[in-house]
Amino acid sequence: PAKPIFAGQLPFGLSRISNIIAVSSCKGGVGKSTVAVNLAYTLAGMGARVGIFDADVYGPSLPTMVNPESRILEMNPEKKTIIPTEYMGVKLVSFGFAGQGRAIMRGPMVSGVINQLLTTTEWGELDYLVIDMPPGTGDIQLTLCQVAPLTAAVIVTTPQKLAFIDVAKGVRMFSKLKVPCVAVVENMCHFDADGKRYYPFGKGSGSEVVKQFGIPHLFDLPIRPTLSASGDSGTPEVVSDPLSDVARTFQDLGVCV
Ligand code: ADP
Repeated sequence: PAKPIFAGQLPFGLSRISNIIAVSSCKGGVGKSTVAVNLAYTLAGMGARVGIFDADVYGPSLPTMVNPESRILEMNPEKKTIIPTEYMGVKLVSFGFAGQGRAIMRGPMVSGVINQLLTTTEWGELDYLVIDMPPGTGDIQLTLCQVAPLTAAVIVTTPQKLAFIDVAKGVRMFSKLKVPCVAVVENMCHFDADGKRYYPFGKGSGSEVVKQFGIPHLFDLPIRPTLSASGDSGTPEVVSDPLSDVARTFQDLGVCV
């Protein structure tokens, strides 16, 4: 997709990034971080130079989901910039690598911390920066979108919550900012047991919703124990099992961002 027109001055740290992809959800716990991390490692597996910015300062997931050798962000004392840590060639920045405990902060402070982490990092030249957005569509998310010139957004949801209102909120925020929503990921759609497929949250609403909002792609992800186990192990599923159906879904998603 074409880059949106970015009104502000491009922050220094972001100047050599070709595509900034926001992975967003209305609610917590729907699998947004799982999608962000696996998408990033899929793009890296396709040969792209990739970074992940974990913008969830209240509950950063990146330090659990990937396990880099250095778990503390280094500072460049002269330039006062942040040097990302790295795992399997993907650059990583998270509040969880900033050497502080879980944050107790008011909204404006959170926005400040996020902006500083994002824009003073030496991302260098990247094909993709994947931003794991904080859940919701409030002020913090809006500010973040205004600081980073987003190329595309991916909305993550679960089937029972795939109410029009959820996706609509996300689409509305991004369309206000002229950022195209390129895909909806419907996570935890089904699971297979005893040779049968079960849809614990129902099915069929996804395609209606993407049609209604003119979103070009819809992807389903199953409930999969290995997806959550790999999330806890520090090695994303697409890295540990690159030939699985799930890895193929992420490749399709990778192509459309
Ligand atoms: P969010 O970023 O939306 O809060 P997470 O990606 O952290 O959600 O996922 C919440 C929990 O659910 C994590 O423990 C994760 O491993 C697990 N999880 C996410 N998607 C799946 C899935 N498709 N199958 C099994 N477990 C999943």
